[in-house]
Amino acid sequence: MTQNVVKHAVCTFCGCTCDDIELHADAERITEAKKACILGKSWFLNHTAEHLYPDALIDGQPASVDDAVEAAAEFLHRADMPLVYGLSNVTCEAQREAVSLAELIGGVIDSHSSL
Ligand code: SF4
Repeated sequence: MTQNVVKHAVCTFCGCTCDDIELHADAERITEAKKACILGKSWFLNHTAEHLYPDALIDGQPASVDDAVEAAAEFLHRADMPLVYGLSNVTCEAQREAVSLAELIGGVIDSHSSL
């Protein structure tokens, strides 16, 4: 099977953002993560291109992304003190959007690191 090689990949798992990772991948999964630490290797090697889960859930039931966005907007609109939480393993652009959303809805923001 053909292996694709990506040099200078960035690992975003722990926040150190090591940017010298060399990834080897077949059509479905990463098979090797050179220079990654044990945490980074585990993170890279356990992600696949298989579609294992629904695109979105509403009350635990599979839903379209459009319906999930609609439901999320409704939940946020009705919330007394909305919390924008999480944001690990997301891009700087996504974090910027999350901060804007928190400001727009008068909410608070926190990351998983507060645990
Ligand atoms: S390779 Fe290891 S140290 Fe580097 S970002 Fe990934 S988890 Fe962190």
